[in-house]
Amino acid sequence: MNKYKTINRRKSDRIYVGNVPIGNNAPISVQSMTNTKTTDIVNTINQINQLKKVGVDIVRISIPTTEAAEAFKIIKKRVKIPLIADIHFDYRLAIKSIEYGADCLRINPGNIGKKRKVNEIVSCAKYNNIPIRIGINSGSLEHDILKKYKSPIPEALVESAIRNVEYLDSLNFNQFKVSVKASDVFSAVQANKILAKKITQPIHIGITESGSLRNGTVKSSIGIASLLSDGIGDTLRISLAAHPVEEVKVGYDILKVLGIRFRGINFIACPTCSRQEFDVIKVVEELEKKLEDIETSMDVSIIGCVVNGIGEAKMSTLGITGGYKTSGLYKDGIRQKNKLNNKNIVQELEMHIRKKSNELKKFRTINENDI
Ligand code: SF4
Repeated sequence: MNKYKTINRRKSDRIYVGNVPIGNNAPISVQSMTNTKTTDIVNTINQINQLKKVGVDIVRISIPTTEAAEAFKIIKKRVKIPLIADIHFDYRLAIKSIEYGADCLRINPGNIGKKRKVNEIVSCAKYNNIPIRIGINSGSLEHDILKKYKSPIPEALVESAIRNVEYLDSLNFNQFKVSVKASDVFSAVQANKILAKKITQPIHIGITESGSLRNGTVKSSIGIASLLSDGIGDTLRISLAAHPVEEVKVGYDILKVLGIRFRGINFIACPTCSRQEFDVIKVVEELEKKLEDIETSMDVSIIGCVVNGIGEAKMSTLGITGGYKTSGLYKDGIRQKNKLNNKNIVQELEMHIRKKSNELKKFRTINENDI
């Protein structure tokens, strides 16, 4: 966790997506997007609930057809999480989605077409007090901007964003956030850095179409961490060609590492070598799966031997340091009398983590109530 760098967040306006605040120092929200067919209501609801379980704040859903909009109406009534309707090309679907309860719209005004259509969306959003995200992507820039810049360079993305910001401003609509995304990490970072200096609206960040679980996680981590470290970003989505649940987990992991927002366990584990006294990799993998439901933030170090085990354990909420047949247990940096049996290490450590999580939860609730 980042204990050394203070991140000064960029000042921005505040909007709300449902009950989730965005911008003006609100916690950085983690978003994801369903990848089921929206018309498959049961599976879409299941996926939203899976995302909720791992801590998603806001879920986006594609509305490509009228049938999808009708399905959205039903889905919206059955889930308790803010939903963003993702609309391209057809302004009527945007209006329908607002009528059907969308908490926010994501549109790229460049592909909605005539101004009259954008105006209708905006006046409907205004009437229903619904925010909009202007989502500019390197793959779908307006033709004239692409012609001017020849390729979707950062300046081109920003010009498109500013054009749309100014247009919504001219309609006296201020409930919106903006994103400029590219699959190239440096373009995305540069575009956001330029944009951040030019607008006051909240910024949604992400590296679009970043790739598979491993590749996309690396690209997103580099790009998003770079922006967040500079105080840019009020809400984020990690775009992965993987199950959306992974996007949320990676999102939280990035925020955790930067010391911005904490949820769940921050595992610290050694890379292992022949000195390890138990199978560190297996233990970490099993515990990560078993403890996905834990929301309390804590550091747990799982280290295979005494070389680094004691030092790490002393800095963690809970730590184990591998020993012959049994491993040392530390709580809040203090060595405990009882040791863990290496054969049963997963079960025993899980029990200690859950106990500690409950203690911390009670302690934090008492303190919050005191304030
Ligand atoms: Fe090897 Fe011990 Fe270092 Fe882990 S902490 S990598 S087991 S020396």
